[in-house]
Amino acid sequence: MHVTWVRTLPRWGGAACAVFGFANIVSAVARPSEFTFPGIVIGSAWAAVGLKGGLPLFASAPSVVSSSEKIAQGLRTIRRRRLIAYLSLLAWLLIALAAFPQLPEKFIDTLFFVTVLPVAAFFILWSLSACPRCDHSWFRMGWPRLSDSLSRCHNCNLGLHDAPPANGTA
Ligand SMILES: [Zn+2]
Repeated sequence: MHVTWVRTLPRWGGAACAVFGFANIVSAVARPSEFTFPGIVIGSAWAAVGLKGGLPLFASAPSVVSSSEKIAQGLRTIRRRRLIAYLSLLAWLLIALAAFPQLPEKFIDTLFFVTVLPVAAFFILWSLSACPRCDHSWFRMGWPRLSDSLSRCHNCNLGLHDAPPANGTA
């Protein structure tokens, strides 16, 4: 999968994110506890965003195919990512309701984090998808607005269920 990093942070913002991330990793490693693993994962994410100066954008289709084919493929990919995100959340809720009450309390924090991580990853993958038509982020980065649609590209207004033109010129 092709990943591009979108530089949205000013230089000082990136530096602050990176320092915050590394501080999280260092303090997580220095004082081992049930928060060590979450600390390292969250710290690494902050550090990566800080060093790259913004959020990653995950391509929804390869750019070598014709544009109508790329749009069709990309829309299928984004619809699939959305479905997987919703299904993983549903599966997690069922597992959490069934398993968590049975577990000893000291494992709950770690287990909560370990099981919520893949769900969060699926949502992040979906929410940072690139539009197959304009190559901008499908969702508005930064502060979303209430009027934003989840099923349309915020930049070029391409809809998730729009059929691309068949002649391949668009
Ligand atoms: Zn677009």
